[in-house]
Amino acid sequence: MMPSHWSAADFGDIGAAMSDKTKALILFSGGQDSATCLAWALDSYDYVETVGFNYEQRHAVEMQCRKVVLENVTKAFPIWAAKLGQDHIVDLSALGAISETSLTRDVEITMDDVGLPSTFVPGRNLIFLNFAAAVAYRRGITTLIGGMCEADFSGYPDCRIETLDAQMRAISLGMDKPYSLATPLMHLSKGDAWALAEKLGGEKLVNIIIEDSHTCYMGTRGKLHDWGYGCGTCPACDLRAKGWAEYCA
Ligand code: ZN
Repeated sequence: MMPSHWSAADFGDIGAAMSDKTKALILFSGGQDSATCLAWALDSYDYVETVGFNYEQRHAVEMQCRKVVLENVTKAFPIWAAKLGQDHIVDLSALGAISETSLTRDVEITMDDVGLPSTFVPGRNLIFLNFAAAVAYRRGITTLIGGMCEADFSGYPDCRIETLDAQMRAISLGMDKPYSLATPLMHLSKGDAWALAEKLGGEKLVNIIIEDSHTCYMGTRGKLHDWGYGCGTCPACDLRAKGWAEYCA
């Protein structure tokens, strides 16, 4: 039986992945991680659809950026363009309405008393995966792809392997067919994620990710740094800048 969760490392070489699993739906936010995952998905599967979630996020600019990433990947990589199917947008404004966090409100990013940053939207990934699975079910797809990674673990318990495995089991039971989740970035550092992008699509892809993907929590495009646009000081920019420095070193 297919494991409910695996990472790129389990496949061996990129591109040799799962010839019998040719369709996938990727949770595509327009950030660096999901843009890298998009390239990985297009390299690994015959057919890929995308889903994005609108939850009144403070960095709503990512909803525009994801369109630009899709357009520019399509233009730059005709082989991938031929594999790219529908893009789905799911309105989850209810999630924004019930979340008093720095991602959904104009409040300062701080750490709470259990060490979670105030950007943590409780259960966000759990909700995203359920909706992604519902879209996938309708589209005849049972493989989901997400950009969750261990580098986020300290902050986000809903990115942990145990959480994801349990959720995929629940989804498979609830849909009455086996669903799986591929997380190609799970064991990669932020620097390794840039290296993976280069391996998949060379400098062309790295430049698309730098210029068109959006990571900054403040929703600021602002100045173009070596690693992309952003405020340069929020935790997301900090992680992205450190990863870029690691990749360049
Ligand atoms: Zn920022």
